[in-house]
Amino acid sequence: MNEILPDIFVVSERGAFGAVKPEINVYVLAGHDGLIFDAGYGSRGAVRHLVREVRAIGERFKMQGRPFSVRRILTSHAHPDHFSGLRPLREELGLRVVLTRRTAEIIASKASFYRSYDADDAADLLIRRGAAGRMWNAALQALFHGFYDRLYGLSFVPDPDEIIPDSTVLKINGEEWSVFPSPGHASDHISLYNRERGVLFTGDNVLRSITTWLGPPNSDLEAYIASLERMLELPKLDMVLTAHGSPVVNPKARIREIIDFRRQRTAQVREIVAQSRFGATADEIIRTLYAGEGRFKHEMVRGWVALTLRLLESRGMVKRSSGMGEIRFYPAATGRAADASGPLDTCDGRSGSVTETVMRCATGGRVISPRGDKK
Ligand SMILES: [Zn+2]
Repeated sequence: MNEILPDIFVVSERGAFGAVKPEINVYVLAGHDGLIFDAGYGSRGAVRHLVREVRAIGERFKMQGRPFSVRRILTSHAHPDHFSGLRPLREELGLRVVLTRRTAEIIASKASFYRSYDADDAADLLIRRGAAGRMWNAALQALFHGFYDRLYGLSFVPDPDEIIPDSTVLKINGEEWSVFPSPGHASDHISLYNRERGVLFTGDNVLRSITTWLGPPNSDLEAYIASLERMLELPKLDMVLTAHGSPVVNPKARIREIIDFRRQRTAQVREIVAQSRFGATADEIIRTLYAGEGRFKHEMVRGWVALTLRLLESRGMVKRSSGMGEIRFYPAATGRAADASGPLDTCDGRSGSVTETVMRCATGGRVISPRGDKK
């Protein structure tokens, strides 16, 4: 455990298998009326580690002659690495589980969780798989479910102790912390912000050095950008505490970099479709963007490519055909003018041809590192 800021501790849970089970940060806002933000994994080892660390923080307070009571736990969103620890931690530490209505609905049961999590091939991911592809996908899905169930220690919460509004102010150790919705990575995602400290907990929405995973059915690209722009408007923002990786000490620059990166990716997808002689499938776009990468990587990035294609389609910039057993995208003759200069289409707000936009994105301003798209 590490005290990042006065009385704000991070407990990092060791992960495994890279992007499949990443290391995760659980934060303890320690004091006389504290709160734990995010619950981590629910496996026995993870819970034991967290309980030990919370008790060690309590001992430290005791040595300093300060009152210590942490009785609430709140999770940023309904992904397994964030909620699985809720129930066992409630039992071990006598916590009250505090959730928004939306998160509570998703993690109420295994059925409601997987309903919110599993994407449909054609409707969500814009692909029609052959027999081999369906087998591969079924195997991959079973692998993920197996990981979640066992290694993540998946456990659900049909009976939260308190439901809070999506936007509210929580008193934590006498300080006012604002909860506000930040959908994008997940539809139920919330952030936690303290103006006096200039500190924001962003869950998975802002990460320091890796790219936030985005994919159907629960991610939304436009909502994601809107959430990031809302963070840029916060009156004081000195540090972002992330669910994975180390703190972001230049938060507004990092958030702008993420917005630029998404615009660049949108322009790239549009350019690939524009340059294709016979249209392009989602798979062809993925193979162009991630040439030389393996199949696992291609499956990991499928989500954001599908979301981007659906966004471009909704803006009238690409159109689809669904014949010949595949879904293929073509450049639309004319995009809707108002949308064509929308926030996700350009790097610098200037309109122009798709090629110009890609060139500006690639060469202008900050260097956008070609990092992999993962959680
Ligand atoms: Zn997540």
